Amino acid sequence: MSKAGAKMRHALAVGAAVGLEALWPTRCAICDAHGQLLCDQCRANLPYIDANWACPRCGAPFGMLACTECNDEALSLFQLERFPFDQMASAVMLTDESRRLATVFKDSGEQRLAGIIAGIMAPYLPPRWRGGAPVITFVPATRRAQLQRGFDHMELVAGALSDVVDIPAMHLLEVGASQDQRELGRRQRASNMAQRFAVRAGAEMPETVILIDDVCTTGATLFAAAETLRSAGAKTLYALTFARA
Ligand SMILES: [Zn+2]
Ligand SMILES: [Zn+2]
Repeated sequence: MSKAGAKMRHALAVGAAVGLEALWPTRCAICDAHGQLLCDQCRANLPYIDANWACPRCGAPFGMLACTECNDEALSLFQLERFPFDQMASAVMLTDESRRLATVFKDSGEQRLAGIIAGIMAPYLPPRWRGGAPVITFVPATRRAQLQRGFDHMELVAGALSDVVDIPAMHLLEVGASQDQRELGRRQRASNMAQRFAVRAGAEMPETVILIDDVCTTGATLFAAAETLRSAGAKTLYALTFARA
């Protein structure tokens, strides 16, 4: 291509980018300010959890010395004999702001937020989790949610996180065939709070798995996924979420 041709092509590409930016200006997912997907101020103001004070087992903020969220009483509520994970950690507390970031990512189709969310989660992956050649996997979205959004949001975060922390990602879980929550009736759903998962056909289960999800509220979804992973042969299980209630 001639120099003039290359110049013209460059001008067209810049013009197209400028045109796109005019049509769909990049806005902060939390405060709507123009310019960045997550503006500096909202990024700085996220309610980051101080990992030094969090419960080393369940990741509850301030649970370092005595945790009320994963003690025997809490486990009996879930009818669990042992805590389902070797360790859990989360990056931020669940607030209106962090919830909004997670929701905009899921529902706006702004897939570039996957990299931003993964970047916030990455420093919360403790170095000790790297022992035992772990594999990152994710809590899968229901089929209906995937169809509506056109993508599985946590699969994107798993891929982005894998790049940042240099740990391989694998798609190990799928939503159990008859248990697609959104397709269940309301009453049925109430009696079926924990989602059920299945191991993806053909997936070979690694011994050490880091399971990721966007939000941990009661833990029921993560616990159900852990049960499936363990019953399929995973020995050491960690969970890392973006936010936790
Ligand atoms: Zn903002
Ligand atoms: Zn705890």
